[in-house]
Amino acid sequence: MYQPQRYIAHLDLDSFFVSVAIISRPELKGKPVIVGGSRDRGVVTSCSYEARKFGVRSAMPMKQAMQLCPHAILVRGTRGEYSHFSNWVTNIIASKAPLFEKASIDEFYIDLTGMDKFFNPLEWTIALREDIIRETQLPISFGLASNKMIAKIATDEAKPNGYLFVQPGKEKEFLAPLPVNKFSGVGQQTFLKLKSMGIHLIGDIVKFSESELEKELGKWGTDLYKKAQGIHYGAVKPYREAKSISTENTFEENIAEKEKLLKELARMTEKVAYELRKDEKLCSCIAVKIRYPNFETTTKQTTIALTCSDDELIPVAKDLFHQLWKTGKPVRLLGVRLSDINGNALQGNLFTDTKKKTDLYKAIDDVKDKYGKTSLTKAGIVGLLKKKNTKK
Ligand SMILES: [Mg+2]
Repeated sequence: MYQPQRYIAHLDLDSFFVSVAIISRPELKGKPVIVGGSRDRGVVTSCSYEARKFGVRSAMPMKQAMQLCPHAILVRGTRGEYSHFSNWVTNIIASKAPLFEKASIDEFYIDLTGMDKFFNPLEWTIALREDIIRETQLPISFGLASNKMIAKIATDEAKPNGYLFVQPGKEKEFLAPLPVNKFSGVGQQTFLKLKSMGIHLIGDIVKFSESELEKELGKWGTDLYKKAQGIHYGAVKPYREAKSISTENTFEENIAEKEKLLKELARMTEKVAYELRKDEKLCSCIAVKIRYPNFETTTKQTTIALTCSDDELIPVAKDLFHQLWKTGKPVRLLGVRLSDINGNALQGNLFTDTKKKTDLYKAIDDVKDKYGKTSLTKAGIVGLLKKKNTKK
């Protein structure tokens, strides 16, 4: 059977959260920058290449990161800013790519298989990368190869701000000199096991037979054998818009007081509802998550009528909280997630009967946009609107 040559591009924005911060604060360029949570209990979300030189890595506890690089500049980003830039890049890709997958907020796969009849896949991807950089000012790297796995590793090798094409047929050759932990899923334990077998580089893996690897490592051994040959069949999954909006908060100190927790829950629900309205969407599912100091985590969700209103969502969130919470037990983390997102909240007929309410939220959100998200509570704006009305 005829199999067309596959071409898969993997694009990844370079230290995305840091790059976004640099756009509004150019003085951060070239400095060790860490984006993440609180110094005490947070983790590193992203870090600049200058911070990486000190050993700082994503997902590392902030405490450890600040020990490694005490002079790092700590930045707390905002979700709205990230999704704005992420959507911008997504739209550029969507306008040009025949089939693409959004693998994460800053990572994309494009399937160019069959396109080589019409254009050169490498030249096409180079042009796309230049368009993204020119329009958004964000640095982005890509790998182009015959499958997703090789393309992703190629991107990693191309970073920062570069690209790499692994020609079809050269996959094994490309992989051979790379360390085994370039494969996703090779954790510290497997790494040590492989080391004990004399396997340091991917090229060392293929010195063993498939059955030898299986004997030592089980099913993972056969997987590894295939990967080392450069074999991977994963398909590019067509992009669909995000189906949920969520927020989580790890507290500086565990909270056990009910009133404090409910207040925080309401604030978080307001935050996700605001984002929902920004996207002009409605949701019909809400979930609440509680994590205790021992990391025991529980979640409860419920279905509701389509809404984007704080005053419909907050009581449901509180109700879920009461069902979940082991009364009096300190809480380490709270989370709220809205899902089953669809519809169009601010257009169409869905809200004609509650137009007043929609207008009210629109007014709140406009003020939030202008003066920051904590500037106004609903009670505050109701007063403001009343005053406005009496003036007329
Ligand atoms: Mg990235």
